[in-house]
Order: sequence, then structure tokens, then C-alpha cells
Amino acid sequence: MLDNLEKFTKLKRRTAGIINIDPLQRGGILTPEAKDAVLEWADGYSICDFCTGAMDKIQNPPIKSFIHEVLPEFLDVDQVRVVHGAREGKFAAMHALCKRGSCVVADGNAHYTTLLAAELSGLKVERTPVSSEPEYKIDPEGYRVTIERAIDLGDEVDLAVLTYPDGNYGNLADAKKVSQICHDLDVPLMLNGAYSVGRMPISARDLGADVIVGSGHKSMASCGPIGVLGARDEYAEKIFRRSQLVPNKELELLGCTLRGAGLLTMMASFSHVVERTKHWDDEVQKARWFSDRMESLGIILQGVRPHNHDLMFFKSDVLYEISNTAKKGRYFLYRDLKKRNIFGIKPGLTKQFKLSTYLLSREDLQTVADSLEDIIATYTKT
Ligand SMILES: *Cc1c(COP(=O)(O)O)cnc(C)c1O
Repeated sequence: MLDNLEKFTKLKRRTAGIINIDPLQRGGILTPEAKDAVLEWADGYSICDFCTGAMDKIQNPPIKSFIHEVLPEFLDVDQVRVVHGAREGKFAAMHALCKRGSCVVADGNAHYTTLLAAELSGLKVERTPVSSEPEYKIDPEGYRVTIERAIDLGDEVDLAVLTYPDGNYGNLADAKKVSQICHDLDVPLMLNGAYSVGRMPISARDLGADVIVGSGHKSMASCGPIGVLGARDEYAEKIFRRSQLVPNKELELLGCTLRGAGLLTMMASFSHVVERTKHWDDEVQKARWFSDRMESLGIILQGVRPHNHDLMFFKSDVLYEISNTAKKGRYFLYRDLKKRNIFGIKPGLTKQFKLSTYLLSREDLQTVADSLEDIIATYTKT
């Protein structure tokens, strides 16, 4: 194999001219400035030329002010560090704040990475109830019930986690109520903002979040893997504690996290990211307009209504029925959308799927809706 590595040297990815509605992709698209930063800072430890021992204190490039001034103001939280992703942030917080064998209470719609972070930290996970379809709603009172039950059963609950919004339905639970309930019971709350930080205005302080994580490659126009981890001073002290063996290094972060171009792309995109969060209402309006159009085709929005996020989950009996008779079966939808340069619904899905309208023009979304209408008409014509 080692004498046949040519195929790894010319890797291409098609992006020009396509409409991508994959929720994973919409918020991670780089700005032109960030693309320049990739080239400029791509060499290995590029950012470390002027390091004096701690990555977050580097002044040239201006990482120190980005991490210690810009990000805390943006998240409205005492302290922030950059990490490799939302999951790494959750793991660091759980690992630092929770006693081994204790319990984390997460919403019933929690992302799988919350479960992995807890498992790797040696923690149990209890999940709050989720309402039945089509809403899949998280009731804040579920936190009281679930935390109290865990305590009754003899568990210590050291942290609660709320996915805000969840990564399936795009439901935004009442985070303020959740934090009040958790604080009543003396449990700190971590907000998983993988789909919110960098898309919509978020204030950890207002929501009552003690810890907050975001995902750079999902929602902050950054070249990943990269994420942010913020915490109130009380918890930041524990999460960002120094090593005893190497006293100028933060132990939980293994000294330094991002050591190259990824961080510079987040910095280069940041003025755009700050600006776009100010236009969140337009994004919500656009998502609602698009889902109305979908519903007129019999493709039905799931989740809480009115919907408040660009991430949407649809169920569609009409596309499923077509898949039962279409050539190539359930792959017809992927194929027919691809012909029209539309990507992002996973190959083989017809009955239910997620998509995102984030930062797509109404024109492009019109094209998506017209295409679906056209596809349905082709197969249902008698
Ligand atoms: C995508 C996603 C994650 C994982 O984010 P990474 O930055 O890749 O770790 C976590 N939680 C939710 C809800 C997500 O949608």
C-alpha cells in the first residue's frame, strides 16, 4: 500500500453550484477571510511562534484577547477556552466537575456525545422524559423529577445537561426554567449549544447556564475540529485548574488544545459570526416559511410549534410511498435531488429526514421546494 499513495494526494470535494441542506454543514461554512487563514496558518504548530508557555496567552496572533475578552463577551460567561469540539468541552466539564460514579441528568433528546462524555468520565446518565410525537418536547419539570428520583435511589447528581436546541428536532426547551429547577436542587447546569452558539444570540448568564459548550465546525464558520467551552468562575476554577507537575499548563486541556489553523479560522470568521447572530429572527422566519411550503406538499414538520430554529425534522408519507415502487427504491429521492444539484438529505431516507435552511437564500430554498414538488408530481402522475 505504501507505494500507492497517489490517490491520497488529489482529493476533491464538490461544493460549487450545489445547494446543501445538510444541518451539519450549514453553519460551518467558512468566510473568505477564514479560507485565507487556512492557507496562511496551515503549517503544523503555526500559531506557536510567539508562545510563552500557554496557548491562550499568545498575543501574536491575538489569541489572548480573542479567548479572554471576545469569547466571554460573546457567550456572556466568565471564562472561555477553545477546545476541539462540543463533545470535548462536555467531556472536560464532566471529567472535572463530577465525582466518578456519580450521575449526570440530561434531557431525553440529548446528543449521543453527551452520553459518551459521561461514560468516559465514569458517570451514570439519567434522562428526562420527552413528550410523544410530533412534538418531542422537553418539559423543564422533567429535570426536577429525574434529579429527585436519582437522589432518592442513592445517586449523587453532580451535573445536569440541556441540549439547546436538540440535534434532531431543533427544539429549544425553556432553558431558564431548567436552570432554576437545577439550581433549586443545587445541581449546576451545562448547556450544549452545538446548534445555537454562533447561530443565535446566546447569553449563558441570562439562561442560567453554569457551563456552556459550542461547536466551531457546526455553528461558528470554523474549520474544525474546534469548539468553545465557557464556565462561570466557580466552575471555571475547577475545569481550568493548573497541573501540579507542570504548573503553567491547564491540566484538563492537556496544556494546549488548538495548535494551528482551526483557531485562526474561528477568529477570522468571528466578525461575520457576531453579525449573523443579529439576524437570527430572519433565519427563523425563513425556516417557518420553508416548512409551510413543505407541509403543502405533505411533508410534515415535527417538533414544537411555532418552530424556532433552522434545524427541522420532517416526516413524509408521500415520499415513503413513492419509494415503495420507484426504481432504485428508497434511493430515488437522493438521486432525483442530486440531479437538481441539491444535497444534504442522506441517501436512502424518505420517510423522515432532517434539513436546515440556515443562511440559504429564499431563492435557493424555493428551488428546493419546487424540486420536491416536481419530484412528487413525476411519480404520482396518473
Ligand atoms: C453536532 C452536535 C454535537 C457534536 O459537536 P462536535 O463539536 O462535533 O463535538 C453535540 N451536540 C449536538 C446537539 C450536536 O448536534
